[in-house]
Amino acid sequence: MTAKPPLRIVLCAPRGFCAGVVRAIDTVETALQIYGPPVYVRHEIVHNRHVVDALKAKGVVFIKQLAEAPAGDRPVIFSAHGVAKSVPEEAKARRLFTIDATCPLVTKVHREAQVHHKRGRHVLLIGHRRHPEVIGTMGQLPDGATTLIGSVDDVEALAFAPGTELAYVTQTTLSVDDTQAIVAALKRRFPTIAAPPLEDICYATTNRQEAVKRAVAEVEAVIVVGAENSSNSQRLREVAERAGCALAVLAPNAAAIDWPRFAGVRSLAVTAGASAPEFLVEEIVAAFAERFAVAVETMTTAQEAMFFPLPRALREAEVG
Ligand code: SF4
Repeated sequence: MTAKPPLRIVLCAPRGFCAGVVRAIDTVETALQIYGPPVYVRHEIVHNRHVVDALKAKGVVFIKQLAEAPAGDRPVIFSAHGVAKSVPEEAKARRLFTIDATCPLVTKVHREAQVHHKRGRHVLLIGHRRHPEVIGTMGQLPDGATTLIGSVDDVEALAFAPGTELAYVTQTTLSVDDTQAIVAALKRRFPTIAAPPLEDICYATTNRQEAVKRAVAEVEAVIVVGAENSSNSQRLREVAERAGCALAVLAPNAAAIDWPRFAGVRSLAVTAGASAPEFLVEEIVAAFAERFAVAVETMTTAQEAMFFPLPRALREAEVG
């Protein structure tokens, strides 16, 4: 029997679930406990198939549109990404029982956009077209009140009538570095543009990107555990690549790993997007341990203590 080749595995910390994702999943689990199945969830509660499938097995029904939720008293939960204003309005008109699991840090961006609009500013949203969070944030304001931008080129192409007051907000899960470049371009072109009082990119996104950047300096390859449609997971892979990692891949689970690509690798960092459960990280480390003599260590670059309480409707129902 040939000896396994050695492999140093650096686990990035923090990685994986953020406070907003924990709250969203706890919201659905608690609603199931209090009200029993079925519980309806509009959109994937978080972008992870394993999480979604586990909840489906417990009696959660995922719907794309409110129209799919039946009339009656069954709970309908809005996902962590947030929804356009028209969604709760429609729910109210249909007298649906809704529970809002929008991450408070996304709600904060919604409020900022609303305040800017009230003050007569046109809002520039830095984000990714068609991402549910972007649809929700744009949907806080009337049509035409927001312009979506995704690159420095988009900034260069902007044209506004003289005297137009501007403000910007951002999606919470963007690349910190890319966003800085876009913001710099905005400030150069529109020096009086109003900025968010605090960074809109959330603590979890920032910390996970910083952790992977630091790890890249010490390893040959990076695996980001996360789903294709998870924005923050995609950004982690890009951050690793831009920090100089020649082999940075996104893997939803161990079965998705293209093993020949890792044949000669002797050091590997593993991180996980904010919607990826820790058991997937463990599964991937175990899959490497079957093929390599692994030495696993953790590189901690930040401590996180963020916690968001459950939505009020559930807290009150729990007490009652
Ligand atoms: S990634 Fe950030 S904004 Fe999104 S749910 Fe997590 S904490 Fe909230």
